[in-house]
Amino acid sequence: MPVIVAARPTVAATVDPKQFRFIDIGVNLTDPIFRGYHHGRQKHDDDLEAMLERCKVAGVRSMILTGGSLHESKEALELAKKYNFYATIGCHPTRSGQFDSFKGGPEAYLAALDKLIEENIQGTGRVVAVGECGLDYDRTHFSRPETQKKHFRAQLSLAKKYHLPLFLHSRAAHADFVQILREEGFGEDGGRAVGAKGGVVHSHTGTADEAIELMDMGFHIGVNGCSMKTAEQLTMIKTIRPEKILFETDAPWCSLTSTHASKQHLDSLPASLRAAYFPLATRPEAFVYGKPVKGRNEPTAIGGVAWVVHKLNPDIPFEKITEKAWKNTVGLFGLEELQ
Ligand SMILES: [Zn+2]
Repeated sequence: MPVIVAARPTVAATVDPKQFRFIDIGVNLTDPIFRGYHHGRQKHDDDLEAMLERCKVAGVRSMILTGGSLHESKEALELAKKYNFYATIGCHPTRSGQFDSFKGGPEAYLAALDKLIEENIQGTGRVVAVGECGLDYDRTHFSRPETQKKHFRAQLSLAKKYHLPLFLHSRAAHADFVQILREEGFGEDGGRAVGAKGGVVHSHTGTADEAIELMDMGFHIGVNGCSMKTAEQLTMIKTIRPEKILFETDAPWCSLTSTHASKQHLDSLPASLRAAYFPLATRPEAFVYGKPVKGRNEPTAIGGVAWVVHKLNPDIPFEKITEKAWKNTVGLFGLEELQ
């Protein structure tokens, strides 16, 4: 008779979630949804502070707040200073039309980003990356590819000038994306020869070959719920080298949902971690202060992202994976004070 031995759980069911620490490298904390606004209408009270409390319980020790435009970068910096986080400064490809419509034109917009970086390069709540910038060919109705390419290229100069890493976004645009990076000196070692400092291709949803090419160029790969939707993507995640992986949520976007390939791996999440990473949420209409809102992703879910990566690499203990991503994040963005 065959003897069936149950697999030994890798983490005890009652483990304290604070034992595992995270830095969420992609949080859109400027999104009005964290203040109760859903699709432009106030649906419930501002519950940003309550959400940040949940993040602490889930082991999220710090965050890098995404700046998606000149205006949003200023807001991200303000929040970063208030809560002792970090921010990025740049313009998202879907909003790159703002360069052209800006008073004074594209040069003035770039100069304004430049000035904002110069003024916030040190201290609490500082800028730690240029971005979010890149190419998004899934959403060319917001901004044409030619517009996106021109203003992506322009922002790369800021990374060289200030020796900052890049916070990059690439959607259905891999060939043009790597071509521009190579032409601007980022083809090797993340552009260190031209004064830059590498960076992360965040929310990576591309193929394994694309991830490998980006890592060979010296870039890190950021994974979140959007990177784990399909079986093919899970295969891609397995190819990410340990020294190149970074965790993020892209909150309030990119939730891990029950229809995604990631779901099967989340089923084994110990109860105490599940309670911290995915606290029970209510619909916006039935809002209760202190509880998350359905459909709004929160940085607490970063532990779920890490757990899926752990289940894809079952030989590596969960703590080793979370600590590796922590060290990668501190190293890339120069967050030495978090050690
Ligand atoms: Zn993005």
